[in-house]
Amino acid sequence: MTKRSLIALSVLLIIVSVGIFVQRSVHAPAPETPPATPTPTQQPETVPIEIATTSVTTLGTSVEGRPIQSYHFGTGSTSILFVGGIHGGYEWNSSALAYEFITAFQTGVLSVPPNITITIIPTLNPDGLYKVAGIEGSFTAADVPPTDTHTTGEGRFNARGVDLNRNFDCKWQPESTWRNKPVSAGIAPFSEPEATALLRLVEVRKPAAAIFWHSQGGAVYGSACEAGILPQTLVLMKTYAAAAAYDEIPLFDAYPITGDAEGWLASIGIPAVTVELATRTTTEWERNKSAMEAVLSRYEQN
Ligand SMILES: [Zn+2]
Repeated sequence: MTKRSLIALSVLLIIVSVGIFVQRSVHAPAPETPPATPTPTQQPETVPIEIATTSVTTLGTSVEGRPIQSYHFGTGSTSILFVGGIHGGYEWNSSALAYEFITAFQTGVLSVPPNITITIIPTLNPDGLYKVAGIEGSFTAADVPPTDTHTTGEGRFNARGVDLNRNFDCKWQPESTWRNKPVSAGIAPFSEPEATALLRLVEVRKPAAAIFWHSQGGAVYGSACEAGILPQTLVLMKTYAAAAAYDEIPLFDAYPITGDAEGWLASIGIPAVTVELATRTTTEWERNKSAMEAVLSRYEQN
């Protein structure tokens, strides 16, 4: 090899080597960036709010799949339960009242004492409400079409035709009564998903008292199953009735009832009352607001 050839070869080698280096550099995978050290997230400044602690729970679904929801206010260890709309659209004003209370607690119109937690189930029979009013979720009286269901009882039962307030475990029978009519009470206590939703809530919350809104009667009724009226039930009845200016009636005896929710609660030691609003289209807000305040005050003292 001549000197010139040697130089030419060397130059060629250098050119090829540089070419390969450049080539590799271009295609070399980018070095992995080391994992970024997590920086502490900036906490937004907490702004104190004055409204009560609130949360919504879905307790279950109705026969037609509508959610059965409960709203919770306050953080105390004494739980008080309010239930509207067990008789669906037939008694839609009991649900409308429940939603008025939910709004009042959400906006601070009403507040919950520190030792109390309030649970409100606005509509235990959402299928019955939908059937008459075409409504799901929150509503007011203005949203309800003027349909008179007083004689037919339409919307009172769940989607399987069961009267839910006959489906609980107190003297349960498959057939019960409503006024002078036989009604289905389901195939067993708690056979209906709406009743089971309430059972689940009671098992978890273990309420110290329960108030059920119905219509219409203009009275507050006590409750009992086999063992008579609990003394605290009478106190609860008198407290609510006096503040709302409704009549007080310790036991409903216009016709025999089996499997009612209030009787079941009485059988497991929970005081429960039935509040029958005075009409089927009004929420009687001021009267019931006074009663709510009286009940909270009563349980605040204990
Ligand atoms: Zn009712």
